[in-house]
Amino acid sequence: LSHRIQEQADLPTVTQDGEILSLLINTGLSAELENSHFNQGEGVGLYRTEVPFMMRERFPSEHEQMALYKSLLSVNPQKSITMRTLDVGGDKPLPYFPIAEENPFLGWRGIRLTLDHPEIFLVQVRAMLRASIGLNNLKIMLPMITTVAEVRESRRLIRQAYHEVCEEAKQRGEQVNMPEIGVMLEVPAVIYQLSHLADKVDFFSVGTNDLTQYLLAVDRNNPRVASIYDSYHPAVLNALCSIISTSNEHNVPVTVCGEMAGEPGGAILLMAMGYRKLSMNSHNLLKVKWAIRSTTLVDAHALLEKVLKLEHPLQVREYVNVYLESIG
Ligand code: PEP
Ligand code: MG
Repeated sequence: LSHRIQEQADLPTVTQDGEILSLLINTGLSAELENSHFNQGEGVGLYRTEVPFMMRERFPSEHEQMALYKSLLSVNPQKSITMRTLDVGGDKPLPYFPIAEENPFLGWRGIRLTLDHPEIFLVQVRAMLRASIGLNNLKIMLPMITTVAEVRESRRLIRQAYHEVCEEAKQRGEQVNMPEIGVMLEVPAVIYQLSHLADKVDFFSVGTNDLTQYLLAVDRNNPRVASIYDSYHPAVLNALCSIISTSNEHNVPVTVCGEMAGEPGGAILLMAMGYRKLSMNSHNLLKVKWAIRSTTLVDAHALLEKVLKLEHPLQVREYVNVYLESIG
């Protein structure tokens, strides 16, 4: 089987009845962009900028960040790279920026922290914009958005950074492109505000890892409750169906970048719901491509219809596994 999966590397991601999907990769390591996995994906759907921050002993300077981002954007200027602004807090501590909280996952994380420290946000966004001078493949994504006001405030800061970078660039006769700006859908509150968010962003990206954690009120890393943490829970599946239909109504492009997109069964269910862009760890890409190429959209729809009637995530898993066995 692994041989058959490998053979698909250069083939398009298309179902047997002709539905085309885009597969992108998630990464936080620049080394991963230089290997063959990067070439297999159509770009980077999630670059976790906190990873290089976590590997240091202090905040990287604007210049250090710029150099890193530039090297990433330059690997292949034809492929877009969605850089997520710093998403620390929760399970992702920075050794040089300690945060002590009783409920870190409900606390000072992601955009909440960087909007309280606009100097961190501005330095990072300026570094991204400076890195993208002469290129046109940067997208910026905001993590842990809960309110529309956070999007407005982030956009205001991004505009400020953009004007600062433009001023500098003008003196050198360079032009700066304004990147597309999108938000992560990973806090349940935003599912009920999609129509308000739609005209303020260029794209959505669903983070099924945190969305599952917050919808089910289950810590994604706590082994005691690991059996309840399941993205195949009917509530999560229904939320995902609702997100894609509202996004389509408002014509907002949407990607899924949580782990669910990197599981063959999860990818098939997401495709059946209507998602066409999936971003995943590079080691899952060929498996997912194989699953998509081995199925039809019609069969995937029938599978989704069946699993949406089930009550328990384990029943869903069973159905999905039987289906995967039937296709290969
Ligand atoms: C997610 O929450 O699904 C996600 C992709 O982000 P992270 O895993 O980095 O929190
Ligand atoms: Mg997340």
